[in-house]
Amino acid sequence: MSRSVLVTGGNRGIGLAIARAFADAGDKVAITYRSGEPPAGFLAVKCDITDPEQVEQAYKEIEDQHGPVEVLIANAGVTKDQLLMRMSEDDFTSVIDTNLTGTFRVVKRANRGMLRAKKGRVVLISSVVGLLGSAGQANYAASKAALVGFARSLARELGSRNITFNVVAPGFVDTDMTKVLSDEQRQNIVAQVPLGRYAQPEEIAATVRFLASDDASYITGAVIPVDGGLGMGH
Ligand code: NDP
Repeated sequence: MSRSVLVTGGNRGIGLAIARAFADAGDKVAITYRSGEPPAGFLAVKCDITDPEQVEQAYKEIEDQHGPVEVLIANAGVTKDQLLMRMSEDDFTSVIDTNLTGTFRVVKRANRGMLRAKKGRVVLISSVVGLLGSAGQANYAASKAALVGFARSLARELGSRNITFNVVAPGFVDTDMTKVLSDEQRQNIVAQVPLGRYAQPEEIAATVRFLASDDASYITGAVIPVDGGLGMGH
């Protein structure tokens, strides 16, 4: 069965690995991108999730081409790391606007079609940092922790409509986002990970695809760590 799948931020990193995993399984996959050339093989729609009008336009385009979104992976996210005393109002609110409010925008719009279809799968990409905290990342950690309360509230609100909401909390993954860390920071992180390495984006994608599959039909409101043991079940 080929479903209409949307992966926000599916043009690179974890999002691209997720998009490929669904496409390889035969689904119709749309991705969002903001600039540059998106990767081939997907319906690529330009969309900045901080702009409600762009979100609306993106959904219209996807619905025209693939039909209503049946599986939504809210993956797009940013960091703006800074110690609290140096963190500006904008450092804080822009990260919340993308990671939390941006997720609210895309989830709300997807639910229109899911309610009509009386089924749907939503997976939010949080982070181990949202559960453990991280010095210098109060804005990012707060935005990622908030996704848990958001997903669990919706799991309760919309469970009777056969829509599931789950959260995946990756540990450190080899992408552009973690390339900015110094070798020393990287070594310190790896030393705390029981599996002793970063994850590859495909390892996150496999869990996301499971949560959207028939095998996960009775899982909702769950937070699944994919972190090499870093959070130890948090
Ligand atoms: P990247 O920095 O490689 O990619 C981020 C993606 O988000 C890009 O596709 C980017 O689009 C998109 N994006 C950012 N802001 C917006 C916006 N305003 N509107 C639309 N798209 C946007 O990050 P990763 O692949 O590493 O991260 C993906 C998700 O996984 C994020 O939510 C991140 O917080 C989370 N995560 C990552 C971890 C890691 O170790 N890498 C660990 C735990 C969680 P564009 O290309 O246009 O900039």
